[in-house]
Order: sequence, then C-alpha cells, then structure tokens
Amino acid sequence: MRTFIVGGTVLTPSRKLPGYTVVVEQGAIQAVLAARPQPGPADQVIDASGFYVAPGMIDIHVHGADGCDTMDATPEALHRMARYFAAHGVTSYLPTTMTASAPAISAAIEAAINFQPPADGAVHLGLHLEGPCLNSHHKGAQPEMHLRAPQPEEYRAWFASGRVRVVTVAPELEGSMEMIEAGTLAGVEFAVGHSDADFETVVQAADHGLRQATHVFNAMLGLHHRRPGTLGAVLTDDRIYAQLIADGVHVHPAMVKLVVRAKGTGRTILITDAMRATGLPDGVYDLGGQATYVNGGVARLEAGNLAGSTLTMDAALRNVMAFAGLSLTEALPMATAVPAEALHLTGRKGCIAAGADADIMLLDSELQVARTIVGGQTVYQRA
Ligand SMILES: [Zn+2]
Repeated sequence: MRTFIVGGTVLTPSRKLPGYTVVVEQGAIQAVLAARPQPGPADQVIDASGFYVAPGMIDIHVHGADGCDTMDATPEALHRMARYFAAHGVTSYLPTTMTASAPAISAAIEAAINFQPPADGAVHLGLHLEGPCLNSHHKGAQPEMHLRAPQPEEYRAWFASGRVRVVTVAPELEGSMEMIEAGTLAGVEFAVGHSDADFETVVQAADHGLRQATHVFNAMLGLHHRRPGTLGAVLTDDRIYAQLIADGVHVHPAMVKLVVRAKGTGRTILITDAMRATGLPDGVYDLGGQATYVNGGVARLEAGNLAGSTLTMDAALRNVMAFAGLSLTEALPMATAVPAEALHLTGRKGCIAAGADADIMLLDSELQVARTIVGGQTVYQRA
C-alpha cells in the first residue's frame, strides 16, 4: 500500500512547493511530484488541502513532558513523552539526561535502549547526556553534588552503548579533550555547555571534534569585547551548531535574532529543553531530585535558576519567526534539516525528498500541528 499526501503546500523544508504530492511507501518517501498521480484502489489518500506538508521536527535537547522525565527511566515515561512530542510536530528526538549519579545515568540509557518505538508517538534516535561533566560556576539547574570531571571508565561505557548521540560537556574540565576525542571517533557529538571555557579552549575543543553548543547564551561564560569567552567562540566558530531555546524567556527575543544573524539559519538548531511540567498546569515539579516551581509556564529552582522550559517545538518555530523576522521556509530548517545534519542524518531525516524517512507533519495556516506521521504511519491526528 502506498500513501498519497495530496493538495497541500510541501515545504522541503527550505523550498515551498504548492500543490505537490508526496508519495509514501514502506515507511519512506518514494517521490515528491508536481503532477497529481492517480492512486490505485488499495492506496491511501491524505487530503492536505489548506495545510503545509513539512518534515517532522527533531528535538535534540528535551528532558521530559506530560509529567514524565528521561531520568524516570521507565517505558511508561518514555511513552508519554513520545506521545506528547508527536502532538507538537516532533517525529524524532533525543531524550536528554540530567547530571546525576553514574547508576542513574546508566539506568536512563538502558531504559531508552530497551524502549520500543510506539505506534502513537515520536521515535527517539538515542540519547543526549547533559552532564555530568559540567562547570559548577554555570550549573544552572544541574545538581551540583553530582558534577564531576570526565572518568574514562564511565564515558567509555556510554560510547560502547552505541545509543549516546550527543554529550554536553564543559571542555575546560580536566580530561575533557580526551573524552571529546575518544567520543568523536566513536561517532558521538559533543556540545559545549554549562561552561566557563575561554575562547581558546572552545576553539581547541572544536579542533578535537566538538561541533555544538548547548542552549546558547544560557549557562555559559558571556561575551566581552576583549575576552570573547565561551559565547564569543560559539557565535563565531562556523564549525559549531548553536542549540537555542526560543521561548523568549531563556533568551530575549532580540538576542534570538542576534544568534540567528551570527550563526545563520544553517548553524542554529531550535531545541525545547522541555521538562516534565510541559503540557501541565503551573505547580511544583521535580527536576533531577530538586523542587522546581513553574509559574506562568516558567520553571525555576527555589534559588531562581531557570530549570528547563515548558516550550514545544511548534511554539519554538512560531517564536523564532516572530523574534528574528524570518519566513516559514527560512525558519523551518532550524527544526528539521539542521538538527538532522548535526546528527549526520542529512537526506534521511528532516527533509521531504525521495529516499527520506516518511517523517512528516501537517501544519495549518496558523502553524498549529494537525497531523504527525512517523515512518509513514499517522501517530497523531488533531481532533
Ligand atoms: Zn537541558
């Protein structure tokens, strides 16, 4: 059986193709056609008239949602998260761990490895480990008691799992460069984050293979015109992709525009950094064993540190368009093709093209998610 998605405006993501048809077969996009072909009697037709047909979004930094967190390390938690993300246009994501004890991080990795892709949710592509090798001066909401320098025994086990895709690290810590080099050889991506590194240390880390920055501006040494610092290196080194939380709280809208201007849409990755309160009312929630107070959708520890977000990817997309003055085709790659590229999945994920996985979202004219398709199967449909 083939599926024909007809009548919509296809976003590749950077090109707009009104009236094109997307043909899906066996979980992959078989063709993207200007003409409207004749489906056979056994074929499924999805009428996308009035909708954008866009690649599903990829969130490479997300802790939780809908009351659950990656650190819960249960299939139930991962399932609730996957379902929630799909309802917001996400087709793949990296469940993201917190700084925690070695057994707690191992348990989260193990749970994610054993979690089967659900029929009604997004699919994870492996894990993002945020910590534990971070700098206490920029700990943010990472529990200080578990911060530690890289331990070869510990990180070799992460790399051997084959499912750790991204590690956020403070490259100035003793042993970080060795970890970055070993992990890069094993196919793991490194992001500078929660870091006090000076400009030269970040450039040196990039020389060793580091290619990303975790939530640019947040929890890193800031900009000074004679000491460019962590942020100065992240904004100017073209090898580095900048993960950005475009909720308007973590980074002021004007600074969101500045990041996009400095990095370009080709080196900016929209992330949510969402935590378990996402999709739920204000209240008190747990983050890494710490009480987190959510007020007006903003999550903070008692001390006031921002503690993840309650952002969703579709909102991030709408926000970045408004904050940086971008069109949909300019903004969409930052949630699709660019994170795919940063994970070496260009052509397979984050695009509407023949041969790509059939990971697709339908957006209405208000850029609200109407339907989400993963591997050719509808996993979410708006009521
Ligand atoms: Zn995070």
